[in-house]
Amino acid sequence: MVKAVVGANWGDEGKGKITDMLAKEADIIVRFQGGANAGHTIINDYGKFALHTLPSGVFYGHTTSVIGNGVALNIPVLFGEIRSIVEQGVPMPKILVSDRAQIVMPYHILFDQYEEERLGGKSFGSTKSGIAPFYSDKYAKTGFQVSELFDEELLREKVVRVAETKNVLLEHLYHKPLIAPEELLATLHEYRDMIAPYVCDVSAYLHQAIGEGKTILLEGQLGTLKDPDHGIYPMVTSSSTLAAYGAIGAGIAPYEIRQIVTVCKAYSSAVGAGAFVSEIFGDEADELRRRGGDGGEYGATTGRPRRMGWFDCVASRYGCRLQGTTDVAFTVLDVLGYLDEIPVCVGYEIDGEVTTEFPTTAKLMRAKPVLETLPGWKCDIRGIKTYEELPENCKKYIEFIEERIGYPITMISNGPGREDIIYRAK
Ligand code: GDP
Repeated sequence: MVKAVVGANWGDEGKGKITDMLAKEADIIVRFQGGANAGHTIINDYGKFALHTLPSGVFYGHTTSVIGNGVALNIPVLFGEIRSIVEQGVPMPKILVSDRAQIVMPYHILFDQYEEERLGGKSFGSTKSGIAPFYSDKYAKTGFQVSELFDEELLREKVVRVAETKNVLLEHLYHKPLIAPEELLATLHEYRDMIAPYVCDVSAYLHQAIGEGKTILLEGQLGTLKDPDHGIYPMVTSSSTLAAYGAIGAGIAPYEIRQIVTVCKAYSSAVGAGAFVSEIFGDEADELRRRGGDGGEYGATTGRPRRMGWFDCVASRYGCRLQGTTDVAFTVLDVLGYLDEIPVCVGYEIDGEVTTEFPTTAKLMRAKPVLETLPGWKCDIRGIKTYEELPENCKKYIEFIEERIGYPITMISNGPGREDIIYRAK
């Protein structure tokens, strides 16, 4: 049985917590896309962790954590993360890395920085983790697969060839130090020795696991609106954030994905630039940011303050549809307990017309939110274990949103911990 945990919006919906929670009943957790550019925050008995590369299942002794072929693999970051969790008392996790995963090279990170510098104010708000240059090279077919680290002759020849073209850009476009092939080769030898114990034919491994009836979780990064095809292009990430891509990025049959848990946060937040229709500003935003998440809405990787907004039914309905949602996990609902009234964005007004369909980027930039206001519940809902016990206005808020997005909310998260969850029948 394969399940995917993915985001409906701009990321930071609380996927890490939901994955960590579902991992209790799973055998294998797979990262299938993205890289060390975003983070998951997880709180459990060992402490609080911000993971960027490791799957959120690493805290359980019974699970195997897999880095799929679709991931941008930053080997030193992966090792730093393994070291840091082990240092905090977590038992050494079982980790497998796909022999087809490609490697984030030191120059990808540099190119990301140089390009942001070059663009100045017109930058895309990259986290400078090398993700865009990495995926550009992957599809330009000049990337390095993990398997290639083990073929010395090929590696040597390819390093020289790639350095030649990169150095043209470094010299003439960016005016920066050039790549020395021998140095790069030495770095790749270090990477090879670090990664060797974990390398695996992941797709064959998962095929066998599916045959044995194992439970596999595919863990997505970011959310639908950051998908390069279906998101707010060009303010998107460079790999697909959709559950469908889980089949490709893990190497399994698409029809094996039976459950798609789409995580939606009870209000909106986004990092980086791009249209954000239900965004709020000033004191109203500051208060929500301060109270939001667990200890405030600040980026797990960058520490940047997140942009805040009301729940957006248009974006979330679209976000859930593109994921192929079977279940919605509605998170961080406890945070809204301070509000007398809670505005919800139910439509977009574009050029005088109201729509509930999420538009392409140029139209999105002109969209204004159509808000409806619901009464707040004015109390702390943390610790509540059943749906019936939730305050009436809180249930109304959930049911209102469920109807507008058109997918069943079967999990409600009312606190950051593993146990803070309310299940609800479809
Ligand atoms: P992800 O990237 O989708 O995993 O999301 P992040 O980890 O960046 O952001 C979610 C934040 O909200 C983290 O700090 C979580 O600990 C916290 N969180 C998750 N679920 C809940 C919840 O139901 N209530 C509260 N208060 N915090 C939550």
